[in-house]
Amino acid sequence: MEKKYISHNSLMNWLTKLNDEGSQIYAPVAKGDKTDYKQITSVEEISMDHIQTTQSAKAVAFPRTEKLFSYKKENGDVTLQNFETTSIPETVVFGIHPCDAAGFKPLSGIFNWDTPDLPFNERMKRTTLIAVSCTQCDEFCFCTSVNGSPGNTAGSDILLTPVKDGYLAEIITEKGENLADKHSTFFEADPNINKEEYLAKVPVQFSLEELNKKISNMFESPVWKQQSERCLGCGACAYVCPTCACFDIQEDAHGSSGNRLRCWDACGFSLFTMHTSGHNPREVQSQRWRQRLLHKFSYMPERISVRGCTGCGRCSRACPVDMNIAEHLTEIASL
Ligand code: SF4
Ligand code: SF4
Repeated sequence: MEKKYISHNSLMNWLTKLNDEGSQIYAPVAKGDKTDYKQITSVEEISMDHIQTTQSAKAVAFPRTEKLFSYKKENGDVTLQNFETTSIPETVVFGIHPCDAAGFKPLSGIFNWDTPDLPFNERMKRTTLIAVSCTQCDEFCFCTSVNGSPGNTAGSDILLTPVKDGYLAEIITEKGENLADKHSTFFEADPNINKEEYLAKVPVQFSLEELNKKISNMFESPVWKQQSERCLGCGACAYVCPTCACFDIQEDAHGSSGNRLRCWDACGFSLFTMHTSGHNPREVQSQRWRQRLLHKFSYMPERISVRGCTGCGRCSRACPVDMNIAEHLTEIASL
């Protein structure tokens, strides 16, 4: 991995240049007391004061709603127009934190575990992730409890750590190298800085080893009912999560033509597993809460060798009834 230095001004000029050359740039933009990833047209729009954006950046590769194909029936013939990959632009996501960059690996695991998902893979192919290490954290952050860290390089193509007047740039992947090499004059030599000094100190809240040992054998545990008693099943936790990938297929039909749409969904919704017959295998909220945690911490590691949680804390920040996932995991690890 190559290390370089880039000043704040050069970084802004570099992003402007990439945008001018046709890459779409997504970056954190503040609106009121919230900050979220938006496509920007000027670096003036970027805001880096937040601890965490409300939404993750997953919509870049897994949009909230997307058209998978269109169809038209005419004179007894059906014409299909498949998902168009050529229109996907080169994309740079700037300013995501390491917990978000790490979230693309579990997403990729889910979208490739049986049939490779064309829209997701094509978007990822054209996306470069320029992450920024965390220099601040809050009580909801627990990346260090799930093998992450505020300066974790896993998942990023380039990781920038804010240091004096600029950034230490770690060029991690070939994609990152290509992007940096395109405009190498913006970069300076490795400043030989120990980045640890600049990173937020995120306390470890529970033993991952203990959690792993216990959670897989807890299907029948009363803990799920007790923990989920106040869960409203609103799905906010899934919508903000960088690794949640539940979706529903909807038909947007207009007479003899229409679109097949993929829309975000959540396993916390009571209708998520409802069968046409009326039978619902996850009838009560405790079964849905159990599914959420077992999927992330047992089924995914078992089936696709990756955990479905990066410790970003978004679900706890977003929950209207203060369900705190780190507290629940701590309880499970200490049972
Ligand atoms: S489950 Fe919660 S803490 Fe874990 S990655 Fe998703 S939103 Fe972040
Ligand atoms: S955000 Fe909170 S209340 Fe809503 S489904 Fe998630 S855990 Fe339940």
